Amino acid sequence: MEYKRSSALFAEASKVIPGGVNSPVRAFKGVGGTPIFVKEAKGAYLFDEDGNKYIDYINSWGPMILGHAYEPVVNAVIERAKKGTSFGTPTELETKIAELAVSMVPNIDKIRFVNSGTEACMSAIRLARGYTKRDKIIKFSGCYHGHSDSFLIAAGSGLSTFGVPNSPGVTQGTAKDTLLARFNDIDNVKSIFEANKNEIAAIIVEPVPGNMGCIPPKSGFLNELREVCIANETLLIFDEVMTGFRLAKGGVQELYGVEADLVCFGKVIGGGLPVGAFAGKEEIMDYLAPLGPVYQAGTLSGNPLAMAAGYEMLKALNADVEIYNRLEEKTAYLEKGIRNVLTKNNVLYTVNRVGSMISIHFDKNPVIDFDTAKNGDNQQFKDFFHNLLKEGIYIAPSAYETWFITDALSYEDLDKTILAIDKVTQN
Ligand SMILES: *Cc1c(COP(=O)(O)O)cnc(C)c1O
Repeated sequence: MEYKRSSALFAEASKVIPGGVNSPVRAFKGVGGTPIFVKEAKGAYLFDEDGNKYIDYINSWGPMILGHAYEPVVNAVIERAKKGTSFGTPTELETKIAELAVSMVPNIDKIRFVNSGTEACMSAIRLARGYTKRDKIIKFSGCYHGHSDSFLIAAGSGLSTFGVPNSPGVTQGTAKDTLLARFNDIDNVKSIFEANKNEIAAIIVEPVPGNMGCIPPKSGFLNELREVCIANETLLIFDEVMTGFRLAKGGVQELYGVEADLVCFGKVIGGGLPVGAFAGKEEIMDYLAPLGPVYQAGTLSGNPLAMAAGYEMLKALNADVEIYNRLEEKTAYLEKGIRNVLTKNNVLYTVNRVGSMISIHFDKNPVIDFDTAKNGDNQQFKDFFHNLLKEGIYIAPSAYETWFITDALSYEDLDKTILAIDKVTQN
């Protein structure tokens, strides 16, 4: 494969955009080399600027669950655009998508739309703090909740449970209100509550983490978080930006039967346009301005193009009773194929999967949290990534990312992928 034009475009971009990209992981820093520039996409495939074709396992990091350029979404956006692209007034479409989302997701009465998953999580935390009148939050190492200050926190040293900034620009003052816990370790969570009695506003968690590879929650873990939160009058926030409308119509709340107090959305809910949302019970959501004291706003929030795309996406998912079964079957098929060839080729590996989220770790030990996710062989991942790219398989350029399976993938695509994985892992 040639990457001439992509390389040239990246050089041009790098002159005027920091690192040549508008979001860091696109830059291939984790795997080396230069990113491919995509020209267009359709269904399960990406086409780059050099004319190469790829089977896509990123799918815009999740949103394209029905494939690229999904026609009902594209048509709705075109038709909507002709009538004006933003008004700064309420539109009927906002109520329609809100009603549909509330009907699909268990346990939520009201939803507010924003422009990204970052905004959704940032706003949910503010709402939780305002509602509980407490400052501290618990997040789990390795879970990602967007790039707002409260979440760019790493574990402190030694026995300290206080977080420290993991990016310059995040203040110590902000960091001290974020407490870091280990995913899948309820005793760790309980000990943090012990040390911070009546101070914790919320636990925010990716209920099925997808930002350190895919990590299935241990049986009972989410229920235990629910109980700890009730006992401490702390809100439980499910960050379902990745899992919402992907693992089930009602996301992880439905899949595992655990109720959250607030739920964050992004990715799929926007059908490929910039949309986020947060939702919950009326009593909590009505704490938001203009009804309540917690301020939150957005010039382009509920933007008609974005709402049109999201509405078509949710309608399609809601109408298709088999969609989540098909995604489960396709991803299970891929998982089985990957396991077969990696075992045959004597690769040390762990494959984790929940529904249509799957990840491969080059380590034979179970991957259950951030520490175990870090154990994987990074050089092996880099080679795997670049060799698959040459075979026309596009996976995320980082060992910490989940593969997102789209319904547009055919079994022939999956077979090709398994064959390619077999080829690139033979010694
Ligand atoms: C992607 C992601 C976010 C951030 O969403 P953006 O739209 O990139 O701001 C937050 N939480 C989770 C779980 C995500 O996967």
